[in-house]
Amino acid sequence: MKLRVALTLCSIVAVAGLGYALAQMRGNSSQESIGDKTAKSDTSKGDKSMLHVKVFNKKGELVGPIETEKLVLTDAQWHKRRTDEQFEILRSKDTERPFCGTLLDNKEAGVYTCAGCGLPLFSSDSKFHSGTGWPSFFQPIAKENVSERADHSYGTTRTEINCARCDGHLGHVFDDGPKPTGLRFCLNSASLNFTPSDKLATLADPIAEQGAGSRAQGAAGKTSADSGERATAVFAGGCFWCTEAAFEQVEGVVGVTSGYSGGKKETANYERVCDGDTGHAEVIRVTYDPKRLTYDQLLDVFFDAHDPTQLNHQGNDYGTQYRSAIFYADDNQRIAAEVKIQRLTDAKVFDEPIVTKLEKLIAFYPAEDYHQGYARNNPNQPYIATHAVPAACAVRAKHPNLVKQGALTP
Ligand code: FE
Repeated sequence: MKLRVALTLCSIVAVAGLGYALAQMRGNSSQESIGDKTAKSDTSKGDKSMLHVKVFNKKGELVGPIETEKLVLTDAQWHKRRTDEQFEILRSKDTERPFCGTLLDNKEAGVYTCAGCGLPLFSSDSKFHSGTGWPSFFQPIAKENVSERADHSYGTTRTEINCARCDGHLGHVFDDGPKPTGLRFCLNSASLNFTPSDKLATLADPIAEQGAGSRAQGAAGKTSADSGERATAVFAGGCFWCTEAAFEQVEGVVGVTSGYSGGKKETANYERVCDGDTGHAEVIRVTYDPKRLTYDQLLDVFFDAHDPTQLNHQGNDYGTQYRSAIFYADDNQRIAAEVKIQRLTDAKVFDEPIVTKLEKLIAFYPAEDYHQGYARNNPNQPYIATHAVPAACAVRAKHPNLVKQGALTP
């Protein structure tokens, strides 16, 4: 059975130690110079390799160019984050067999993003049937986002194209394309992910807010109207009573439901999950307005609302049901979570390694009614007073611009 032991506030100190070192994103002076023709604004800030790219904002609009850092990972890190096929193509510059790619015949309207880092690369507007067997486009969605370099392999000289942010290999560009450019950008499907036109807001990149005054956005969010749009995110950060309380106070969150994910429907109940052998984690499903709050901001709250360095426990709550996990619904959420973890790691926000698991969301099962709004309904319960309230306070301290007026009072 679950052990609800009142702790000292030591764990809260650990949570409070998190912070906005997120802004201190990683750089790597040893990053290979890509010698590109199109990414004109590569610079170096200290030991950081910088570039300018265009990204989507929360409205699903392409904005920029905006300065950002290159994403630099080791081969081991890429291996861990991508399939073998994606690694072979993105990092080892392999080429998939013609007529085999999953996106070759995709005719849906939308945007193709880098399978390595999520950067927007091509629009369906420029896709054409080349007959070569590989997805073909006559221009990138933004010239800044696709870099080029000479490729002298196989005794010929071709022009290789790469993602400007993560340097992932995409394919090659040739000068036998259609009007208006006369170019043919020849892509590997495995280098790309596709997002339909009506879902472009899900591609919102946190750097999009830099140019628009993101820090002011939070304050503005307190008075902005509900857009009516809804998105969801599922997180596991230990006891759901605590994480639910932390997220309920966030502006733009319209509902939080405690529940179970990671196991089967038959065992998705508190008694069985407490046994610790069902595969489930205690999770919360956050329903939010994507026009007022981004998934990336939710990730910030998540990592400040629990200790992601504790393996299969939070404080004295032990068991895999208390693991730290992000249940991603799609590739965009997965990539956003991967990038967030990498940036937190690079910025050394935590003294110990982050052990948060990324798990594909298969199903969410709401918990029993008495678990819903538990902290709100039982503010004087000792466990709530010593765990949930301090966790919520830590989030408020770290994210004053994201918290609703009159939210949970400590
Ligand atoms: Fe990339």
